[in-house]
Amino acid sequence: MSDTIFDKIIDKSIAADILYEDDLALAFADINPQAPVHFLVIPKKRIATINDISKDDRELVGHLYWVAAQLADQKGFASEGFRTVMNCNEFGGQSVYHIHLHVLAGKPLGWPPYSDELKESLE
Ligand code: 5GP
Repeated sequence: MSDTIFDKIIDKSIAADILYEDDLALAFADINPQAPVHFLVIPKKRIATINDISKDDRELVGHLYWVAAQLADQKGFASEGFRTVMNCNEFGGQSVYHIHLHVLAGKPLGWPPYSDELKESLE
């Protein structure tokens, strides 16, 4: 499995706006935000996609959600609400092959991702 840009953020060889760090996980602001608040929570262990999560990784993946909830509380958007998304492979829109939880907040967010407009444009 080859390195991704996130390995460089983990080892601090490239800069990121880091919001949280512990032995297992790192959270940092997304470089191209898609909402007023948009950050990523990643495991330090490199797991390429959701399809590569092993049985032993279950607690680690749960930890990513716990980090997201801690930051939502700290930053004051927990009760108004937010979106978490983990994209998988091409159809899921994944571009970095190191799993990451997107956390989006700050305004009401659109749903669904497969809208009538998109459906028509793909037909
Ligand atoms: P994906 O498309 O794989 O679900 O999400 C990858 C995310 O990583 C994108 O939202 C993209 O903006 C973000 N990203 C890609 N490269 C960098 C980077 O170098 N720094 C930061 N902070 N975010 C990045």
